[in-house]
This record gives sequence, C-alpha cells and structure tokens, in this order.
Amino acid sequence: MHEQGEAEPPPPASTRAEHQVTLTERGPFIAPRCICGWYGPARRSRPLARTEAAAHLAGTVA
Ligand SMILES: [Zn+2]
Repeated sequence: MHEQGEAEPPPPASTRAEHQVTLTERGPFIAPRCICGWYGPARRSRPLARTEAAAHLAGTVA
C-alpha cells in the first residue's frame, strides 16, 4: 500500500527555486528537508514541521 498523504504538486521547471522543502516522514516523526541542504529537527507534529519549513523559507528569502 502506498499512502501518499497529501501530495504537493511539483513546481514548474521554470520556477527559480533555490529552496524547496519537503517533509520526510520517519516513523512517527516528520522532518523537513530543503534542497539547499538544510534540514529541520524531526517533529511529531506535521504542522510544526511545516511551520519550521516555512520559517526556513522566510528566513532565506532576501
Ligand atoms: Zn533551503
């Protein structure tokens, strides 16, 4: 069984994305990872992981 949960559509190739955070599920934990190499701590709360991912994006936008 493949449970994808909520699948987020990939951004168009034309988008200039230097940061793209994906939430990686590790057992009961959710860990945000970015293509820039950043990764957040594993959380049990998906909303919290999303918040930290958003904070990373917000903090890296010049
Ligand atoms: Zn990043």
